[in-house]
Amino acid sequence: MQNFSFHNPCQIEFGAGQISKLSALIPSDARVLLLYGGGSIKHNGVYDEVVAALSQHHWQAFAGVEPNPEYETLMRAVEFAREQNLDFILAVGGGSVIDGAKFVAAAVPHDGDCWLIIGNRVPIKTALPIGVVLTLPATGSESNFAAVISRRETNDKLSFKNAKVFPQFAILDPKSTMSLPARQIGNGVVDAFVHTTEQYLTYPCEALLQDRFAEGILQTLIEIGAQTLAEPNDYNARANLMWAANQALYGMVGLGQAQDWATHAMGHELTMLHGLDHAQTLAIILPALWRYRFESKKAKLAQYGRRVWQLSGEDEQVARQAIEKTADFFNAMGLSTRLSAYQIDAKIAADGVAAQLTRHGRVKLGEHFDLTPEDCRAILLTAH
Ligand code: NAP
Ligand code: FE
Repeated sequence: MQNFSFHNPCQIEFGAGQISKLSALIPSDARVLLLYGGGSIKHNGVYDEVVAALSQHHWQAFAGVEPNPEYETLMRAVEFAREQNLDFILAVGGGSVIDGAKFVAAAVPHDGDCWLIIGNRVPIKTALPIGVVLTLPATGSESNFAAVISRRETNDKLSFKNAKVFPQFAILDPKSTMSLPARQIGNGVVDAFVHTTEQYLTYPCEALLQDRFAEGILQTLIEIGAQTLAEPNDYNARANLMWAANQALYGMVGLGQAQDWATHAMGHELTMLHGLDHAQTLAIILPALWRYRFESKKAKLAQYGRRVWQLSGEDEQVARQAIEKTADFFNAMGLSTRLSAYQIDAKIAADGVAAQLTRHGRVKLGEHFDLTPEDCRAILLTAH
C-alpha cells in the first residue's frame, strides 16, 4: 500500500430535520450568501426550512446556478458577494451548486484572474467558509474539496481541488431528496458508483480494507438504487442512498492506492461537447473503458465480479460477466451505455473528446498514466 495522509474536516449532520441546525452551525455575525440553483428548493420546502433557520442571520440569496455550473454565472455571484461584503457561502442544492460555491468562496478574496483558479493554475491563498445543505445524493461534493466548473465560451469543463474549499459542514436530510425525479436518482446512483470504481477498479490490488469498503458501497448502491426507484417514498432507501453517495467520494476508498479517473476526464469533455448529464457520460464510458483495458484490469474485475456480483468461475469469464452486469445495472437505473441512445455519432464524439483532452493536456490518463487521447478515441468508438 502507498503512503497517504487523510484529513476530512467537514462536519456531517445527517437525518430528518437537521436543516434547523443551520442557525447554530453558521456564526451569528456571518454575512451569508445563500447560493442555489434553478428553484427546486422553492418547490420542495427546503428553501423555507433554510430561511426559517437563518432568521437570526444576515443573509442574501443568489439564484440560478445551472447544472454543470457556468463560470460567467458564478462570476456574477462573486461580484454580488464582493459588493454586499458577504463572508460565508451557504450552498443549497446538488453538486452543481456546491461546486459553484467552492469556486465563489475561492474567487471572492482572489486578486487576479479568477479563471486561473480552475485547473489549479494559481495558488489559492484563502477562501470564504462554506456550509452545505445537500438535496441530491450523487457527487460527494458536500464533503470533499473538488469542484468542476464549465465555461461554454471556451468549451472548457475543468476541475480544481484545494483543501481550503472543504465545506465546514454538510447537512444531509434524506427528506430533501424526496422531490427528485427518477432521472436524477439514476444519475446520482451511477455517479456514486463510478466514483467508487474510479478509486477501486485499478491494479495492483494491495489496499485490502479500502477494497472491502468500496465493495460495500457498490453493493449498497446496487441494492438501494433499485429500491429507491421502485419505492419513491421509502425514507430509509433515501437515507442509505444519501450516505452511500457521500461515502463514495469522501476520500477513504482511494487511500493508499492508484486511482483511475479516466472515465470522469472523458465524461467532462463529452458533457461539454454534447450536453449529456454528467452521469449519462459515465454510464457510456465506463463499460467501454473496462472492455478496452480488459487485460490490465482483469484480476480486479474478477475480484469485483465475485465479491460484488457473486459470480463464480474462471477469472476471464467472471471479469467479462462483471462488465455486462455493470452495464445492465446502469440500464436498470435508466441510463444507456450507448452514444446512439442520445443520437450522438460515435466518430464525432470520439474525435471531439480526443481533441479536447489533447488541448487540455490530459494526455496520460488512468491509474498508470498510460491512456492516451488516441486510446480514449478508440474507447468511445466502441460505445456507438
Ligand atoms: P446538479 O447539476 O446539481 O442538479 C441536477 C438537477 O437536479 C438540477 O436541475 C437541480 O435543480 C435538480 N435538483 C437538485 N436537487 C433536487 C431535489 N431535491 N428535487 C428536485 N430536483 C432537484 O446534479 P449533480 O449530479 O448533483 O451535480 C452534477 C455536477 O457535479 C456536474 O457538474 C459534475 O461534473 C459535478 N461533479 C462534482 C464532483 C465533485 O467531487 N465536486 C463529483 C462528481 C460530479 P435546481 O437547479 O432547480 O436545484
Ligand atoms: Fe462524478
